[in-house]
Amino acid sequence: MNKTVLVLNAGSSSLKFSIFDAAENLTLMAKGQIEGIGVAPRFVAETVEGENLIDIRWNILEVKDHRDCLARLNAWLDDYLDGAVPYAVGHRVAHGGDIFSKPVVVKADVISKLDELTLLAPLHQPHNLAGIRAVAAINPNTPQVACFDTAFHRGRNWVTDAYALPYEMYEEGIRRYGFHGTSYEYIARKLRDIAPNIARKKVVVAHLGNGASMCAINDGKSVATTMGFTPIDGLPMGTRSGQLDPGVLLYLMERRNYDVKKLETLLYKNSGLKGISGVGNDLRALMASDEPRAKLAVDYFVHRVSRELGSLAASLQGLDALVFTAGIGEHSAIVRERVCKAAGWLGVELDQAANESHAQVVSGAESKVRTMVVPTDEELMIAIHTLETLDAQWNAFGISA
Ligand code: ADP
Repeated sequence: MNKTVLVLNAGSSSLKFSIFDAAENLTLMAKGQIEGIGVAPRFVAETVEGENLIDIRWNILEVKDHRDCLARLNAWLDDYLDGAVPYAVGHRVAHGGDIFSKPVVVKADVISKLDELTLLAPLHQPHNLAGIRAVAAINPNTPQVACFDTAFHRGRNWVTDAYALPYEMYEEGIRRYGFHGTSYEYIARKLRDIAPNIARKKVVVAHLGNGASMCAINDGKSVATTMGFTPIDGLPMGTRSGQLDPGVLLYLMERRNYDVKKLETLLYKNSGLKGISGVGNDLRALMASDEPRAKLAVDYFVHRVSRELGSLAASLQGLDALVFTAGIGEHSAIVRERVCKAAGWLGVELDQAANESHAQVVSGAESKVRTMVVPTDEELMIAIHTLETLDAQWNAFGISA
């Protein structure tokens, strides 16, 4: 019987999944997603080689929510795995607050603690929890592990975690948590394999996707990151504003009658590349557009990435390596080139040809800062954590998995 790990990343209208073979060193078997949940659900899955396994649309009257989608996914998996139930399910969960500094086996008390953190990540956490609840309802005996985007950043200095607000607000939990931790942890581990001499040094990782952030890592540990209390802070993103003077919010509330809902929509959905350009949130569309504001959006993005790089290098007190990852970081040679040019003062020297061919090392031989492109794999990191966390639990009970 296959021993498989199912990894779920449940968003507001999509449910991404990957299935790994745990008996084969966590080889990816298949992946896919259900998109258009609540509107026009469509289920697509493919093999690692990109061969289509299914592409089907469901009637919204029959498949209404995450739970219905999970039930359908489960039925498909049953068929795909010849009746073998996944050994475990690992979930991407946006916020672990200051409670969870590592992945955790999901129990009832964990769910209620995660519920309380919903306020801190309103666009992500409820959907992550919907995925967990749906699995618990459909396969109550399947162990589930929650992996947090915030966990990798725990254990930093107080000055890094705090805001200059009255101290009791820090104690209440108003802190810089940081996100994309699963991606940063994957890259930090991967560097140990592919570049062991820099894995222990001062590295800035630029996770530039639709959601974007950067992280300063020293000897494999997070030292500082651009996101803070929520995943809005830091870099401009596809639709999120990134860093903003809080005075702007006061102004909008006082002069333009913005309430919480309106601010939330503005900051999470209508800002960033989309807000500046008026064209959309996708970098490829902006690059292809003649609209002058599309160019402004890209200029702003590159400017903020370059500024944050300086700030993160300062928090590391030096820089040995710069790693680009996620959709833009892995695929946009132009953005990498512009960021690297702006970072010449830090000792970054790009090898133009290596950059254009998306090589793993894109810096020249003389560059003081090794500059790399390393594809992230958050799903694999979650699968690894899921097995490790369950093994640790079984070991604690003296049971072998
Ligand atoms: P998410 O945060 O949704 O996981 P991704 O990591 O998939 O996002 O990144 C999406 C971003 O990557 C989009 O802005 C998209 O335009 C950009 N991107 C993807 N492929 C390319 C490419 N070949 N060239 C430039 N940008 C790309």
